[in-house]
Amino acid sequence: MADSIFTMIINGDIPAEKIYEDDHCIAINDINPQAPVHVLVIPKRVIEKLSDAQGDDQSLLGHLMLAAGNVARQLGVAEAFRLIINNGEGAGMTVHHLHLHIIAGGTLSEGKMVG
Ligand code: AMP
Repeated sequence: MADSIFTMIINGDIPAEKIYEDDHCIAINDINPQAPVHVLVIPKRVIEKLSDAQGDDQSLLGHLMLAAGNVARQLGVAEAFRLIINNGEGAGMTVHHLHLHIIAGGTLSEGKMVG
């Protein structure tokens, strides 16, 4: 399978606004932000979508959640943010490489799906 755009970013083949990186994931600013803060947390190991994850992905999935909390603290939005995972094209997934959207700012408190 061809590399996803996120694998190309992880490998440094195309640029992105990277705001966090550790051994297992990166976080980048979304190129088309839907809210004042819109960051993607992306595992370096490719899982196409959440429903493809297996038991041995458990620690990686937990790691992504912890990383999302760390990034939210780093960005000063730890008290109010939303995590979104689109699973499959029918749910709006356009990049087939698991990623968590951190959405914050704007009108989150009005109950909209996206700020
Ligand atoms: P999804 O619809 O859940 O698959 O989300 C994919 C997200 O990746 C979208 O919000 C896009 O705006 C974002 N995106 C696509 N290409 C890039 C890129 N080169 N750099 C940063 N974000 C990107």
